[in-house]
Amino acid sequence: MSNSQHPFLPSANPPTWLGVMGGGQLGRMFAHAAQAMGYKVAVLEPAADCPAGQVAERLVQAGYDDSAALGQLAALCSAVTTEFENVPADSMNLLAQGSFVAPAGKCVAIAQDRVLEKRFFVDCAARSGVLPAPHKVIASNEDIDAIDENLLPGILKTVRMGYDGKGQVRVKSREDVRAAFESMDGVTCLLEKMLPLAYEVSVLTARGADGESVVYPIAENVHRDGILFTTTVPGPNVSAECANKAQDAARAIVAELGYVGVLCIEFFVLEDGSLVVNEMAPRPHNSGHYTIDACVTSQFAQQVRAMARLPLGDVRQHSPAVMLNILGDVWFEGDKDGGNPREPAWDRVLALPGAFLHLYGKDDPRRGRKMGHVTFVAPTLDGAQEQLRAACAILGIAA
Ligand code: ATP
Ligand code: MG
Repeated sequence: MSNSQHPFLPSANPPTWLGVMGGGQLGRMFAHAAQAMGYKVAVLEPAADCPAGQVAERLVQAGYDDSAALGQLAALCSAVTTEFENVPADSMNLLAQGSFVAPAGKCVAIAQDRVLEKRFFVDCAARSGVLPAPHKVIASNEDIDAIDENLLPGILKTVRMGYDGKGQVRVKSREDVRAAFESMDGVTCLLEKMLPLAYEVSVLTARGADGESVVYPIAENVHRDGILFTTTVPGPNVSAECANKAQDAARAIVAELGYVGVLCIEFFVLEDGSLVVNEMAPRPHNSGHYTIDACVTSQFAQQVRAMARLPLGDVRQHSPAVMLNILGDVWFEGDKDGGNPREPAWDRVLALPGAFLHLYGKDDPRRGRKMGHVTFVAPTLDGAQEQLRAACAILGIAA
């Protein structure tokens, strides 16, 4: 069965099994939400010890393209989702032959390929009201010869498998592009014009198989070294006009995709106030973690509802919130490699009012590795930001 053929399938009720492709922290938090509602969770993941496998009722330890394992997961589960965007789209299609799958393989295929994704955004612009950054596909030296000067300085990004700023090189000249393209081992890339960003926002949405959709409050994101550092909601820089425009764009995009499940769309706000769509993640998103502690329905509970064909939950935010990502760096002294190991002072962080600690069960902290996050909720945004600064001081993070 496939989503489009069975849009009005009856709901999948607990205690049936829900499946998730991928064993990372997003799968782990999904499992927590599903189990809280009485579902059983099966995770398909090649690694024996993984954040989601530690909490799921069953781990199907196999490659993401192992057809026997996919058949087993589809037979067991009343619905299957993914927690990472680079899941093979064909695997989602195969799963759809035996179970309800959300998001569909065709949506995942668009989100995991920067060329298809940009084309989709351009095609959808008349309805969404937003365009992506000016860009050009770079697949050969001839493409580099043909670059319009207007695209420089820019960022060369691999078309597939990029995350946390990996697979990206900043380029100033055509010669920089040539060198960067060579360093990427000949894989197809996309050159994007470097835009003057004022700040970055993301919009989390969920759409059900019945076509109903919800849009969470807009989130303002700060990145450091290409990795999300904090998410603040409401965003201190975000105007009501910008929020409305981004949320309307998000509604148009999910409707156009015919998407089912949770989807997060990242936008740039430029110095002149204009909005540019950057990329989308076909799953719950790091910038949506604040919803666990600050919204009526978390993004993970929402994913459960969407895939189980249950009514979507209330997206209302009940408290201003700041989410701080916890990287492996805080397990080491200083900010350089080779610092002495130390145990972060969680007791002091948790003494801060409104602090919620989430650690992902990873036992080898490394610099730059996402180990967990802390969300601060408070009656006012100032209050939440004050707790963030206090936590950064405790953990030795430059605020
Ligand atoms: P992630 O997985 O963390 O979302 P990613 O590796 O998929 O990241 P992007 O989101 O495309 O990559 O880019 C990472 C960051 O680089 C953006 O959040 C932004 O700060 C910066 N960036 C990307 N593209 C541009 C651009 N065209 N102009 C200016 N800054 C950009
Ligand atoms: Mg991004």
